[in-house]
Amino acid sequence: MAKKQFKAESKRLLDLMINSIYTHREIFLRELISNASDAIDKLYYRSLTEGITGLSRDDFAISLSVDKDARVLTVSDNGCGMTKEELEQNLGTIAKSGSLAFKKEQEDPEKAGDIDIIGQFGVGFYSAFMVADCVKVISRAYGSDEAWCWESLGADGYTIEPCEKEGHGTDIIMTVKKSTEEENYDEFLEPYRLRQIVKKYSDYIRYPIRMPVEKT
Ligand code: ADP
Ligand code: MG
Repeated sequence: MAKKQFKAESKRLLDLMINSIYTHREIFLRELISNASDAIDKLYYRSLTEGITGLSRDDFAISLSVDKDARVLTVSDNGCGMTKEELEQNLGTIAKSGSLAFKKEQEDPEKAGDIDIIGQFGVGFYSAFMVADCVKVISRAYGSDEAWCWESLGADGYTIEPCEKEGHGTDIIMTVKKSTEEENYDEFLEPYRLRQIVKKYSDYIRYPIRMPVEKT
């Protein structure tokens, strides 16, 4: 598939995220876990209202995994997943509340430069680009037998291709940026550090969050 461009306003937010020198980059994990939890909520709600059998609340979970050598961090959920159209709509444009509120604040010259607002608003999915230089989203909508891979290196757009995925839900697969003399990103590949971040920001999440095992 040809590379597609982000909508103009999404592109601006994305640029901000990519070039962020923000010290609380760790909040990207809060955003991804909250999206995962929302996706599970949606499917769980559907299972109740539509009387879907075979979905048990106990089966829902969010999982983090790490491949240190490949510098890959993955956040997975078994929630509602996204169709090809939903991937396009939800990740190609700023969909919602959090991101939009953030963008509005950024446009206010009075507040420009007050980057701490990142901590106050939900900044959403694009915050993954604060720590990753490549983001892949593999998703399979509940009830569909097709899976799709959305992939982006940031500013220059994204692609969507068919792929394989067992079961419904979404994997957010991030290639974590290389550390430089000024910036350390390796912490986002350390299980103990990820555990800390989850504890700090995602303690309220009502589904189990499975953590990578620490190698000793
Ligand atoms: P918000 O959560 O405020 O809507 P985000 O930028 O965090 O904004 O996410 C944009 C949209 O992408 C969400 O509204 C949702 O529709 C979709 N999305 C993101 N992550 C997931 C996920 N793990 N599973 C299903 N849909 C998702
Ligand atoms: Mg969100």
